[in-house]
Amino acid sequence: MEISETRITLMEKPNSRLRAYASITFDNNFVVKDLRVIEGRSGLFVAMPSRRLQKPCPKCMTKNPLRAKFCSQCGAALEVAVIPQGEGTSSSEHRDLAHPITTEFRNYLQKIVLDAYEKEKANPTPKAKSTSKESPAPKESPAPKEESIEK
Ligand SMILES: [Zn+2]
Repeated sequence: MEISETRITLMEKPNSRLRAYASITFDNNFVVKDLRVIEGRSGLFVAMPSRRLQKPCPKCMTKNPLRAKFCSQCGAALEVAVIPQGEGTSSSEHRDLAHPITTEFRNYLQKIVLDAYEKEKANPTPKAKSTSKESPAPKESPAPKEESIEK
Protein backbone atom coordinates (compact mmCIF):
# COMPACT_ATOMS: atom_id res chain seq x y z
CA MET A 1 0.00 0.00 0.00
CA GLU A 2 1.36 3.37 -1.00
CA ILE A 3 0.52 6.84 0.21
CA SER A 4 -0.27 8.67 -2.99
CA GLU A 5 -1.10 12.08 -1.57
CA THR A 6 -0.54 14.01 1.62
CA ARG A 7 -2.22 17.23 2.59
CA ILE A 8 -1.04 19.36 5.46
CA THR A 9 -2.96 22.07 7.27
CA LEU A 10 -0.59 24.02 9.47
CA MET A 11 -1.83 24.99 12.91
CA GLU A 12 -0.25 27.98 14.54
CA LYS A 13 -1.62 28.02 18.01
CA PRO A 14 0.57 29.29 20.80
CA ASN A 15 0.86 26.99 23.81
CA SER A 16 -0.16 24.01 21.76
CA ARG A 17 1.93 21.05 20.76
CA LEU A 18 -0.29 20.49 17.76
CA ARG A 19 1.62 21.64 14.69
CA ALA A 20 -0.59 20.53 11.84
CA TYR A 21 -3.41 18.36 10.65
CA ALA A 22 -2.73 15.93 7.85
CA SER A 23 -4.82 13.87 5.51
CA ILE A 24 -3.35 11.05 3.50
CA THR A 25 -4.57 9.14 0.50
CA PHE A 26 -3.77 5.47 0.00
CA ASP A 27 -3.33 4.19 -3.54
CA ASN A 28 -5.43 7.08 -4.90
CA ASN A 29 -8.46 5.36 -3.41
CA PHE A 30 -8.82 5.82 0.30
CA VAL A 31 -8.44 8.97 2.38
CA VAL A 32 -7.75 9.15 6.08
CA LYS A 33 -8.15 12.56 7.66
CA ASP A 34 -7.37 14.17 10.99
CA LEU A 35 -3.91 12.80 11.49
CA ARG A 36 -2.02 15.24 13.66
CA VAL A 37 1.57 16.37 13.66
CA ILE A 38 2.54 16.86 17.27
CA GLU A 39 5.63 18.29 18.86
CA GLY A 40 6.67 15.67 21.36
CA ARG A 41 9.47 15.68 23.87
CA SER A 42 11.75 13.85 21.50
CA GLY A 43 10.68 15.59 18.33
CA LEU A 44 7.78 15.59 15.95
CA PHE A 45 5.53 12.60 15.66
CA VAL A 46 2.32 11.72 13.89
CA ALA A 47 -0.78 10.92 15.91
CA MET A 48 -3.50 8.83 14.37
CA PRO A 49 -7.06 10.08 14.06
CA SER A 50 -8.93 9.25 17.22
CA ARG A 51 -12.19 9.77 18.97
CA ARG A 52 -12.76 10.68 22.54
CA LEU A 53 -14.10 7.88 24.67
CA GLN A 54 -17.41 8.55 26.36
CA LYS A 55 -19.70 6.77 28.73
CA PRO A 56 -23.48 7.00 28.76
CA CYS A 57 -25.32 8.18 31.83
CA PRO A 58 -27.28 5.24 33.34
CA LYS A 59 -30.32 7.49 33.88
CA CYS A 60 -30.67 9.63 30.78
CA MET A 61 -28.10 8.03 28.44
CA THR A 62 -26.40 11.35 27.80
CA LYS A 63 -22.80 10.74 26.85
CA ASN A 64 -20.24 12.12 29.22
CA PRO A 65 -16.44 12.26 29.21
CA LEU A 66 -14.81 9.26 30.83
CA ARG A 67 -13.51 11.25 33.75
CA ALA A 68 -16.82 12.94 34.55
CA LYS A 69 -18.17 12.21 38.00
CA PHE A 70 -21.62 13.59 37.34
CA CYS A 71 -23.84 13.60 34.29
CA SER A 72 -23.76 16.92 32.47
CA GLN A 73 -27.43 16.54 31.59
CA CYS A 74 -29.22 15.27 34.71
CA GLY A 75 -26.53 15.48 37.38
CA ALA A 76 -26.66 11.81 38.30
CA ALA A 77 -23.52 10.41 39.87
CA LEU A 78 -21.47 8.44 37.40
CA GLU A 79 -19.10 5.58 37.94
CA VAL A 80 -15.63 6.90 37.38
CA ALA A 81 -14.15 4.72 34.71
CA VAL A 82 -10.76 3.21 35.24
CA ILE A 83 -8.72 4.70 32.47
CA PRO A 84 -6.09 2.38 31.08
CA GLN A 85 -2.65 3.87 30.94
CA GLY A 86 -1.97 4.87 27.38
CA GLU A 87 1.07 6.27 25.68
CA GLY A 88 0.52 9.75 27.01
CA THR A 89 -1.66 11.48 29.51
CA SER A 90 -4.08 12.87 26.96
CA SER A 91 -4.21 9.85 24.70
CA SER A 92 -5.62 7.54 27.34
CA GLU A 93 -9.10 8.96 26.89
CA HIS A 94 -8.91 8.62 23.14
CA ARG A 95 -9.10 5.62 20.91
CA ASP A 96 -7.55 5.40 17.47
CA LEU A 97 -9.97 5.25 14.58
CA ALA A 98 -7.34 4.04 12.15
CA HIS A 99 -3.73 3.15 12.62
CA PRO A 100 -0.91 1.21 10.99
CA ILE A 101 -0.36 -2.30 12.24
CA THR A 102 3.27 -2.84 11.40
CA THR A 103 6.20 -0.78 12.62
CA GLU A 104 7.46 -0.62 9.03
CA PHE A 105 4.28 0.99 7.79
CA ARG A 106 4.06 3.31 10.76
CA ASN A 107 7.58 4.54 10.06
CA TYR A 108 6.82 4.91 6.35
CA LEU A 109 3.63 6.84 7.09
CA GLN A 110 5.30 9.05 9.66
CA LYS A 111 8.19 9.89 7.37
CA ILE A 112 5.88 10.86 4.53
CA VAL A 113 3.66 13.02 6.74
CA LEU A 114 6.58 14.72 8.47
CA ASP A 115 8.32 15.36 5.16
CA ALA A 116 5.13 16.91 3.81
CA TYR A 117 4.83 18.95 6.98
CA GLU A 118 8.40 20.28 6.70
CA LYS A 119 7.77 21.15 3.06
CA GLU A 120 4.54 22.93 3.88
CA LYS A 121 6.19 24.80 6.71
CA ALA A 122 9.08 25.92 4.52
CA ASN A 123 6.79 26.96 1.72
CA PRO A 124 3.25 27.37 3.02
CA THR A 125 0.36 27.20 0.65
CA PRO A 126 -1.38 30.57 0.61
CA LYS A 127 -4.70 30.25 2.36
CA ALA A 128 -6.83 32.73 0.46
CA LYS A 129 -6.14 31.66 -3.10
CA SER A 130 -5.17 28.27 -4.35
CA THR A 131 -1.74 28.13 -5.88
CA SER A 132 -1.63 28.05 -9.61
CA LYS A 133 2.13 27.77 -9.98
CA GLU A 134 2.46 24.42 -8.27
CA SER A 135 0.28 21.35 -7.89
CA PRO A 136 -2.08 21.64 -10.84
CA ALA A 137 -4.94 19.87 -9.10
CA PRO A 138 -4.21 16.24 -9.93
CA LYS A 139 -7.57 15.22 -8.52
CA GLU A 140 -9.63 16.58 -11.36
CA SER A 141 -10.00 14.11 -14.11
CA PRO A 142 -9.39 15.49 -17.57
CA ALA A 143 -12.48 16.66 -19.37
CA PRO A 144 -13.91 13.95 -21.53
CA LYS A 145 -13.43 14.38 -25.21
CA GLU A 146 -16.34 15.80 -27.06
CA GLU A 147 -16.67 12.89 -29.43
CA SER A 148 -17.32 10.48 -26.60
CA ILE A 149 -20.06 12.67 -25.13
CA GLU A 150 -22.05 13.19 -28.30
CA LYS A 151 -22.43 9.53 -29.00
ZN1 LIG B 1 -27.85 11.80 33.01
